[in-house]
Amino acid sequence: MSLLAPFDRYPLTFGKTVIEHLPRLTDAIGADVEFYAKREDCNSGLAFGGNKLRKLEYIVPDAIASGADTLVSIGGVQSNHTRMVAATAAKIGMKCVVIQEKWVPHYDAVYDRVGNILMTRLMGADSRLVEDGFDIGIRKSWEDAIQSVKDAGGKPYPIPAGASVHKYGALGYVGFAEEVAEQEAELSVTFDYIVVCVVTGSTQGGMIVGFAAQDRADRVIGIDASGTLDQTRAQVRGIVDNTAELVGLGRKVREDEIHINPDYAYPAYGVPSEETNDAIRLAAKTEAMMTDPVYEGKSMQGMIDLARKGFFPKGSKVLYAHLGGAPALNGYSYYYKDG
Ligand SMILES: *Cc1c(COP(=O)(O)O)cnc(C)c1O
Repeated sequence: MSLLAPFDRYPLTFGKTVIEHLPRLTDAIGADVEFYAKREDCNSGLAFGGNKLRKLEYIVPDAIASGADTLVSIGGVQSNHTRMVAATAAKIGMKCVVIQEKWVPHYDAVYDRVGNILMTRLMGADSRLVEDGFDIGIRKSWEDAIQSVKDAGGKPYPIPAGASVHKYGALGYVGFAEEVAEQEAELSVTFDYIVVCVVTGSTQGGMIVGFAAQDRADRVIGIDASGTLDQTRAQVRGIVDNTAELVGLGRKVREDEIHINPDYAYPAYGVPSEETNDAIRLAAKTEAMMTDPVYEGKSMQGMIDLARKGFFPKGSKVLYAHLGGAPALNGYSYYYKDG
């Protein structure tokens, strides 16, 4: 029985996401390891979709039940999350206020005009740019936005950065683990590892709880893109504990079941290294699979590098969780002017 049976879900996605074999990327990596991708980036018709929608499906019923009329959230200027909150608000007929902080030291001339923020504005969200720098924790600018909705006579429903530190924020990715097990049976494959990008933590945190119920949480390899490993790891730990309790996992998840690799986040959150850009190019040229310089390019880089270093035993099958994020590429056009 699903761990999620007791929880309400408001559908925002198409349903199960596709698992795709990546033969050309597999050959190009050349490590005797087979690569597959689970396409969370193609999970919905709402403004290009992505991992935040799987989380928001379990948050929306609570938002509606609260009687709120405005979703309030926070992210960086090119935040995928605030795009997804704006999309959700449009779809369920609520207003939306999003704070967009200067999380990224990146100065492309149109950074605050294209991609995610463009769509966020088009969907009618009140997008407020502020100067504060990167932090995955609870922010004063967000608390001020919540207060501003109250002051104007509205009823806010707060959603934290990445929808992560919310009591229901990780349920969607518990469901991901159950979905993978069902698809393995359908496809007659078993994945030995799951590679996933981690920043605010509820994607990997939910997966860890879901795969812990299958006794393979230690096969979830988180690739940190925050560059603030201690804070991300502490946040994942907290999310895992709360979610394990919430779904009745029945045991505590051990420290050795939480695997987060810090080696690919350099030089900073939101800034790609040359190696990140090479990984983005390789996935694009071999599989036409678009990854972004903030998140998925770094987990792609990590997966390729770990494979070439022999981290995955020969013959392994590795599932890359593609969480979305390609709209941000538009804010980084200078890096890719020659491909
Ligand atoms: C938010 C996001 C992540 C990170 O997920 P967390 O749950 O915040 O750890 C990774 N990739 C993309 C494309 C995202 O939008």
